[in-house]
This record gives sequence, C-alpha cells and structure tokens, in this order.
Amino acid sequence: MLRTHNCGELTISNVNQEVILSGWVQKSRDLGGMTFVDLRDRYGITQLVFNMETNAELCEEARKLGREFVIQIKGIVSERESKNNKIATGEIEIVVSELNILNISKTPPFTIENETDGGEEIRMKYRYLDIRRNPIKENLLLRNKVGFEVRSYLHNIDFVEVETPYLIKSTPEGARDFVVPSRMNPGTFYALPQSPQTFKQLLMVGGYDRYYQLVKCFRDEDLRADRQPEFTQIDCEMSFVDQEDILNVFEGMTKHLFKKIKGVEMNDFLRIPYDDAMRLYGSDKPDIRFGMQFVEINELVKNKGFKIFDDAELVVGICAPNCANYSRKQLDKLTDFVRKPQIGAKGLVYVKYNEDGSFKSSVDKFYSQEDLQLVADKMKSNKGDLLLILSGDKDHTRNALNELRLEMGNRLNLRDKNVYAPLWVIDFPLLEWDSDNERWHAMHHPFTAPKPDEMDILSTEPGKVHANAYDLVINGVEIGGGSIRIYNKDIQAQMFKHLGFSEEDAKEQFGFLMNAFEYGAPPHGGIALGFDRLVAMFGGSDSIRDYIAFPKNNSGQDVMISSPSTIADNQLDELFLKITKVND
Ligand code: ASP
Repeated sequence: MLRTHNCGELTISNVNQEVILSGWVQKSRDLGGMTFVDLRDRYGITQLVFNMETNAELCEEARKLGREFVIQIKGIVSERESKNNKIATGEIEIVVSELNILNISKTPPFTIENETDGGEEIRMKYRYLDIRRNPIKENLLLRNKVGFEVRSYLHNIDFVEVETPYLIKSTPEGARDFVVPSRMNPGTFYALPQSPQTFKQLLMVGGYDRYYQLVKCFRDEDLRADRQPEFTQIDCEMSFVDQEDILNVFEGMTKHLFKKIKGVEMNDFLRIPYDDAMRLYGSDKPDIRFGMQFVEINELVKNKGFKIFDDAELVVGICAPNCANYSRKQLDKLTDFVRKPQIGAKGLVYVKYNEDGSFKSSVDKFYSQEDLQLVADKMKSNKGDLLLILSGDKDHTRNALNELRLEMGNRLNLRDKNVYAPLWVIDFPLLEWDSDNERWHAMHHPFTAPKPDEMDILSTEPGKVHANAYDLVINGVEIGGGSIRIYNKDIQAQMFKHLGFSEEDAKEQFGFLMNAFEYGAPPHGGIALGFDRLVAMFGGSDSIRDYIAFPKNNSGQDVMISSPSTIADNQLDELFLKITKVND
C-alpha cells in the first residue's frame, strides 16, 4: 500500500498510530536539529518531522528533498507542540521513520502556493502544475460538486442523460462552426455541435420525454473572459410541457443548486417580459440587484428649444441616489465613460437635485426650475439625487444607458457578489431584423415556436411576433435560455421561409427534422444552461477559465499542447486539403 491515509485526514484522535502517507513536498525548513516538511496531496497538508538527534541519516536525506518531489513516508502520528488551527491536520505531525522518494521533480517554474508568482501565460503552459494549487483545485472540485448536484436533481425527477454525437452537420445557431474534414468521404466535413439542439428534439420524437446532458458545445466566436471555443452546457428537453412547466422545473433546479452549493434559499424568480426589460434596463439580461430603472421623459423635455432632445427618438434617464454632490470632475468622468467608442453616446445631461430643493443642470439654459421639478418627480427622485439623462435613437440610447447604469451600480457598490438576483426574461421576439443583410434572423433559433395567438401575423408583421422563449438571468449574467419548439412540419417550413431558406436549402439542411415531425412528434420545449458560467458564479468569479481544467487562451489556443497546430502534408493529402493562404 502506498498510503494508509491521505494528507488531509489525520487528527489528534490518530496520535500514536503508525501511518504511511504519499504526496508532494510543498516546502521544507530546517530548524536546528529538526527538519520539517509539508507533505501535500489533494486532501490537504500534513507536517512531517525528521529529527537529527534520533535519526541523523534520515534527516540528512530529508534535507535534500526539493519542492514537488513525490515521496512516501512511514511514521508515527504525534501531537504538535505549536499547533496550527488554520488547517485540519494542524494539531498533529508525523515523526518519520522511513522515507522513500517515489519521484524527483525539477524546480517548478512558479510557486505552487495560493498566491503564486507565476503569470497567466506560464501557468497555462504548465497547467498541470497550476491545477495543483489550492484555488484552482477548489474550483475544479466545485465544478464536480455542481455537476453531481445537477445530475442528482434531474435523475430524481426522471430525466435521462443521453449522449449525442460530436461529429455532426452544422446547426445554424448564430455562430461559426468548427469543422472536421472526413477522410472517408473526400471533400466533405463534419461540424462540431454548437449545441445538441436538433438531436434533443429527435430524442423527443423518440419518446425520451425528459432528456438532459452535460455536454460540450463548440462555437467559433471571438473570445472574451466568459467565452471559450468549447464550453459545457446543461442541455435539457421535455415533452408534453408548456413554458410554465419548463420554467418551474429549472427554477427548481437552480434553487436546489443555490441551496446545496451556497446555502442560499432563493425566493420565486421574478419574470420580466423582454419588452419591459429593454424599456426599464436597456438590456435583455438586467442586473436587478439594484433599482435605478430607466424613466422615459420625452413628453417633459421636448419643445423647449433644446435641439438634441427635440431631435431624439428617446430621452431617458436614471436617478443615482445621493449623488447630487458629484464634482465637475466626477461628472466629466461619467461623460467620458458614455462617450467611449464601445458605448457610443454623444454626451450626457445631468440634473442635480440639490439638498435645498433647487436644481442645477447641464441644460439650465433651456429648462426652468419648474421644468426640472417635473422631470425629478417623474423620475421619483429625492433631494440629494443626481439624474443622468441620455438621448438619441432608441436602441443605442438604451444600450448606452444600460452601461451607465451598471457603472453607477459598481461605483455605488450596489452589485454585491454575495447577493443573488435571479429572474426569467420571457416573451422574446421571435425574429430580429438584420439591417446589414436585410433579412430576418431567429432571435433564439429557427426551431422556436411563435406564440400560438400571434401565428396569424407571422406572414404580415413578422417583427411583431413573440415566442415562448425565455432566458434565465442572474446578476446580469445570462445563465441559460430556451424555448417551446415548433413540432409541426408545415410551421417549421414556414419558419425556414421567413428566415430566407429556400425550400431546397431547408430540405438539404433540416430534412431529417422535418421528416421526423411526420412521425408523431410530441409538443416539446427545453433549455440549456451554461455550466461553466454557473460554476463561475458559484465560485464568485467572472472568468469561466478558472473553472476549466484545461482552458484555451484569448486567441483560442491551448499553449500547453500548442494547439491548434499545423498538420503534416501527408495528413493534408489524406484529407484532400490544400492550404492556399495563411494569415499571420
Ligand atoms: N440550444 C439552445 C442553445 O444552445 C438552447 C435551447 O434552446 O434549449 O442556446
């Protein structure tokens, strides 16, 4: 036996037992006649002691141990003189009688400590060392725990996990596909799934009325901190359900997870129609940990000679509580913030509602104290508040004010990591207009069903049709989304037509699904939750990368295995591929 115990379990109750431990040398220190070694494994750290007086030879050997050597020791558990109450094994140490070096180690390129001296790049290159560190280990164990709880919850309510293939044909879900050339079928390609969408619908046709899968999905998109080219979804689908059933099941699962993982009891989730979310927060994933809702004030500010407001489609503001004392400098900073190219507002109008009841604004030339009082009343503001107002076309203005609202939320410390504010955004529009390409896109995906009572305007006013599509949003993060699906061949064909597919294209790409709909497809719907994001939220971080054992960097590369990489000419030949152009 290479060990009788692990490095995290021995306590005062084991004193005088002879034990064998194996693990990595975290660090060692020589104190006069004694050498202390911290031995580490996944479970914790146990202190080993070697005594020069009682066993000089062994002690000499211990002094030669380097960091990260893998050793096995035999010894007696003893009570420590100076106890360390910060670790579970802090009351004991092992007085070592035998030492066996199982493997030596080069000096690691960074310290294997909670706070390491290694930068991101080097840690990723030696990720197998990085994941020895406690913070990453905790993250991966958290991920394991969340996955286990998801499976247990869904299993208990009759969901079955079914694997779907990774080598498929592309499903148009808005992103680019990763493709894989087929050697056996020259000139053809598989695509890696952006999600198992069509397969899970086929499983419903197949009668597996409650399906789920913790599944890898692949999307060739530009990357950000919360995106990876391959990521994991909790993918689910149910038959004989309406939207209400799905929201209930997955609200139940989310509450269960928060209870088990964070010890947090959640109230019932708010439900906000998409149109309201956009009107009140300028976002389809509002952070509702704090208020500061948008107030539209067109009718109060137009026709007073201020051209910018007169010309604007929308004039809308937020009320920042107790900020009337903002200095010129602070206000300039906010103006610079909204003018950043990513945000794109032209300017910012402010109104200070002073403690004495007077108003001071950047548009005093055009608006009297009475005018501003009406604005302040409409925005339900109090003395001491600061009103921040943007104007312009509706979409851009809402977008910019959303960013400003979040920024103010940060400045005023209203976005507490330990507070969780979940909600469902419901009633999404079915389609969105792509003005660049002059065509409709499915807002969710082409399999989402129109609301039945709006079917009749699908051909006349497609932009007005809503869907039973929903997103789960927590703290401003889109955790998941799904919809009730079309299960009728003709409606699906009509939908493809609206999306600009010719009949042949639709048949070529989705004939299998439309055919399946002719063999008794049940009504169905589903959802997929971003597993990495959910775990990151439980861990209190914005970056999903920290919760993935072997993540890719911002350029989609794995610097440890140097991937993606070129392949040999004969491999290219075998796949009938020819590289004609490489961008560097
Ligand atoms: N397949 C969808 C997605 O990946 C989720 C769903 O509609 O169930 O976003």
